[in-house]
Amino acid sequence: MTIAEALRELFLPAACAACRREPSAAGGLCAPCGDALPAGPPRLAIPREREAPPVVVAGAYDGVLAEAINEYKERRRRELAPTLSGLLRRPLALTAEEAPGAVLVPIPPTRAARRERGFDHVAALCRPAGEVRRCLTAGPRPDSVGLTPAQRRSAARRSLEAVPGRAAALAASGRPAVLVDDVVTTGATLAAAAAVLRRAGVAVPLAVALAAR
Ligand SMILES: [Zn+2]
Repeated sequence: MTIAEALRELFLPAACAACRREPSAAGGLCAPCGDALPAGPPRLAIPREREAPPVVVAGAYDGVLAEAINEYKERRRRELAPTLSGLLRRPLALTAEEAPGAVLVPIPPTRAARRERGFDHVAALCRPAGEVRRCLTAGPRPDSVGLTPAQRRSAARRSLEAVPGRAAALAASGRPAVLVDDVVTTGATLAAAAAVLRRAGVAVPLAVALAAR
């Protein structure tokens, strides 16, 4: 970011995260872009990876939703958090019916991504939406862009681990886990996360994501 851009961000109202033309209203988007977010019933996505649980998503990964997710995640526009967290509400209501008493387990960022962003972007979306247990941790992992499905699968498996003690405590409570992620593509990450939790004795009937590719 240049100094001029940094000053503009400080003193002018931020532009809408999606169209980048209109000033943003509360929640990081202008009114028309806010209206273009998915508003219909959540839909069920069955990931290609067989071990991944079925995923309830707010919408497809395109348009305003895709822009908002990217700006939130890659450009740290944290004012989008309430907007995106709000989009998880309906998918989560559905999972509450299917998996009563479930706790939310966010897919963790790698330590490098966490450091770069300065926050755990998925956990931040979960907090206003339900009871969160950060039972998973992610070791270094290559960028999944350009990897084959088999490579994605093995990268996810090598990266995700249970946080010692927390997964066991969740298993002992007998409550199921609903995994939460921002975007689901092949389901490799969700499959690996579900495998880690299931090995610890936690049931993982469902996952929730903002968008499916
Ligand atoms: Zn806009």
